[in-house]
Amino acid sequence: MSDSCLPMSAGPAPRRVARALTVAWGARRVHIGAGAPVAVQSMTNTDTADPVATAAQVSALARAGSELVRVTVDTPAAAAAVPRLRALLDRTGVDVPLVGDFHYNGDKLLAGFPDCARALSKYRINPGNVGGASVRDDAFARIVEIACRHGKPVRIGVNWGSLDQRVLARLMDENAARTRPWEAREVMREALVESAIGSARRAVELGLPADAICLSAKVSAVQDLIAVYRALAARCDWPLHLGLTEAGMGSKGIVASATAIAVLLQEGIGDTIRVSLTPEPGGERTREVVVAQEILQTMGLRAFAPMVVACPGCGRTSSALFQELAAKIQDWLREQMPAWRGRYPGVESMQVAVMGCVVNGPGESRHADLGISLPGAGEDPVAPVFVDGQRSVTLKGARIAEEFQAIVDDYVRRRYGAAERQPDEESSRAA
Ligand code: SF4
Repeated sequence: MSDSCLPMSAGPAPRRVARALTVAWGARRVHIGAGAPVAVQSMTNTDTADPVATAAQVSALARAGSELVRVTVDTPAAAAAVPRLRALLDRTGVDVPLVGDFHYNGDKLLAGFPDCARALSKYRINPGNVGGASVRDDAFARIVEIACRHGKPVRIGVNWGSLDQRVLARLMDENAARTRPWEAREVMREALVESAIGSARRAVELGLPADAICLSAKVSAVQDLIAVYRALAARCDWPLHLGLTEAGMGSKGIVASATAIAVLLQEGIGDTIRVSLTPEPGGERTREVVVAQEILQTMGLRAFAPMVVACPGCGRTSSALFQELAAKIQDWLREQMPAWRGRYPGVESMQVAVMGCVVNGPGESRHADLGISLPGAGEDPVAPVFVDGQRSVTLKGARIAEEFQAIVDDYVRRRYGAAERQPDEESSRAA
């Protein structure tokens, strides 16, 4: 066999086998680890002490597809508001499990507000800042005891910016004694891994079931994240929550998160993900959910909403029609998903191609379930449509976008709507 005939890779490496963790609220169960689909998480940026505003954002994140939503619990007012937040969500049928994010005073808030401890489905604690430095071990033990009492799982989430200084100091001392010391960055990475695993082992010693633990070790640089999670994956079997911390804004945040998360997922590492985007002014908080879903879907790991394949456009597409149609169809497909999800099983895997001209348009459209090849600039204003790889109608004139949308709508109902047909519809079809 020559080098040009090497076999193609079969895809992602087999998933690392992690312990199973279940996060529950009411009848809702989110399974993490043990081969369950990689879960999508998000976090609110409202003041949790305002349960109405927070409930609105949690609802939006859940509607966008977030399977767990984390809220900040940092003050007595926030802890007191959590049961009301949960009740508001329950009343409107939003059963997404809530995760409480605790730093510094988590032991006091969980002990002082037992209804908050009950209303949360999981606690996230950071071993680097549980309690003050002088009472850290006691505070950690109190949180574990409360989690055990309420039957709640815990994410032990270490962070580059708030690393347990005792672990770091010990490792630096050990490093100084080496004949060939590690670089400072390697010591820092090791400190993250040791802090996460050591804290999880301590929690188990204190009585927390081993299958009620998830780990994360967040940093803001891609290579550090990959190195730290590879080490965590090799040295423990707890489920791992992936994500860069402080990923940044706009394309930088998306690219950095996608790069780090995709490398790890490709290696079979990662059981839940969050894309920590800094919202742009006026931007939607739900963007982080959409990006997380798109990472998983473009990697072929999960399907959430039909994807639009669109070419980048070039000098052959000087009119705005092509960009407008691609954006309009993508937005419209995602808007339909809350209604389509239950009604049209499988529609989330549909592919729609919107191509700028005949150079690659017909070919790419034939690979998709539905495709349209727009005229390009200077060509006749006609746009052939392809359905299941076959050329179908040719659209012309100013209403190409609306007519193509109607074709997509009709295709979805015919192809994915069999399960929703009513008996009278079936009998009239038979007649
Ligand atoms: S399909 Fe046509 S318009 Fe799109 S990038 Fe290729 S040549 Fe340009």
